[in-house]
Amino acid sequence: MSDFTTGDYTEEERARLDAWKRARDYSDPERRAAARAILLEVAGGAELRPALHRHPARGAYLSKDFLIAEYRAMTAAGELAADPALWERLRMKPVRTLSGVATVSVLTRPYPCPGGCLFCPDDVRMPKSYIADEPGALRAAQNAFDPFRQAASRLDSLESVGHPTGKVELLILGGTWSAYPQEYREQFVLRLLDALNGEDSASLAEAQRKNERAARRCVGLVVETRPDMITSEELRNLRRLGVTKIQVGLQSLDDRILALNGRGHTVADARRAFRLMRAAGFKIQAHWMPNLLGATPQSDREDFARLFDDPDLRPDELKIYPTILVKSSLLYACYERGEYHPYSYDDLIELIAAIKPLIPPYCRVNRLARDIPMRHVAAGNTRSNLREDAQRLMAARGTRCRCIRCREVRARRVARDELRLDEISYEAGGGAERFLSFIAPEDKLAGYLRLSLPGGPHPDLRMPDLAGAAIVRDLHIYGQTVPIGESQDGAAQHFGLGSELLARAEEIARGAGFHTLAVISAVGTRDYYRERGFEDGELYQVKKLT
Ligand code: SF4
Ligand SMILES: [Zn+2]
Repeated sequence: MSDFTTGDYTEEERARLDAWKRARDYSDPERRAAARAILLEVAGGAELRPALHRHPARGAYLSKDFLIAEYRAMTAAGELAADPALWERLRMKPVRTLSGVATVSVLTRPYPCPGGCLFCPDDVRMPKSYIADEPGALRAAQNAFDPFRQAASRLDSLESVGHPTGKVELLILGGTWSAYPQEYREQFVLRLLDALNGEDSASLAEAQRKNERAARRCVGLVVETRPDMITSEELRNLRRLGVTKIQVGLQSLDDRILALNGRGHTVADARRAFRLMRAAGFKIQAHWMPNLLGATPQSDREDFARLFDDPDLRPDELKIYPTILVKSSLLYACYERGEYHPYSYDDLIELIAAIKPLIPPYCRVNRLARDIPMRHVAAGNTRSNLREDAQRLMAARGTRCRCIRCREVRARRVARDELRLDEISYEAGGGAERFLSFIAPEDKLAGYLRLSLPGGPHPDLRMPDLAGAAIVRDLHIYGQTVPIGESQDGAAQHFGLGSELLARAEEIARGAGFHTLAVISAVGTRDYYRERGFEDGELYQVKKLT
């Protein structure tokens, strides 16, 4: 296990780490003095930004989380009157929780990955595929990859900037989750829940039970793995841990390219994995990489189209990671031998602008590039505004992306009577999928539900809860996360939209001849479904449809 305090870091990395630590040291007297001056000016009616600029400290402007920490200290000491308007102005980046849920990402400890992918960064201090000074990796290393400390520090920093953390999606990143020993995985999830619960538990089951009613509830648990690691036994395992979504690396849908890049699995493996994950009701997020060794912009367009043309695939969510040439990867040797060429930035925007309009409205593009610090990029794209540049090109061409992310209502207030229920049907994994959504004016999305109606030969999952059941795989209502007990007029979460979507899902399932509706709930949403007539099964919650 590596730790920044003992690891052999270069001078540059250590300097960055020190700067990172300093920025989080709320006790520094010089910064505190500047923060006080700014707060007093703003409380007296001054604009925030100019006041910030008038009082730099240690050669930099203060961050808002520093101001918030000082605001808390001053109001607690009675030196400043609590002022909700000032508080609102201090809160930063509200967009982070506008999807309704606060995300907490944590990394597993360094551990060998069974994959040998050419493009994968190799840093012995990190879980495979991560780079030591990527933003998320810094916090992980600083906390010695301890799940409790990582989650607790992330929750603290979210709360320190005034974000509600009542609903939390836990995102476990790093290498291939399925390759870690089972005992490590259980302990890891247990400690994450302990951090949410604010108290320790003796077993995973106990931590899960406590979280059902905790102030910070786990409403989603996500892991990342490879298609060839997905088996029905593994899926049962993941359900026992409480996993609700699986991120799975496809990277390409061409066996030649998969082999060239050392992926160690085939397209057939990906299809089989998707069928299993869908049959077990998991939300499926695919990772896809253009510009792999052996690909061209044209072959990438064709490859991408297969993601949605192939009824065995059709992911719910997507991360598009244009290949980044990193010195520590095997791909770098190919580049030096002249066998690999990164696309130009223009080629990359062209490609993204060409493929985004192909994305169906039931899919969400979560990411469009990886957050690797630019100095690690040996050659090729070093610009980070790919999404915006591609969007501009699409706008100029009169095309657009209709993915979920591009249509979310976000901060907009919506009235119930502005919303209409929309239903999309498509075939996937041998059965039928229904994507039910509430659409606001201008094609905005206020919430959605994914319903699977299994059909055809069903994989033997040995999950009795799912026998003859239709499955709710996802239910998501947008709106600012509001602490339990408070309400926010007009925020989409407060119209009972979730109940309406569930009622419609029941109706569809009954009409299609299913006797049971199962839901893949996270531990923190079990109560929500109980209140709506679902009972606890072994690995899912189920409702008999009479
Ligand atoms: S499977 Fe993932 S983590 Fe493992 S080598 Fe390949 S890209 Fe890296
Ligand atoms: Zn989009």
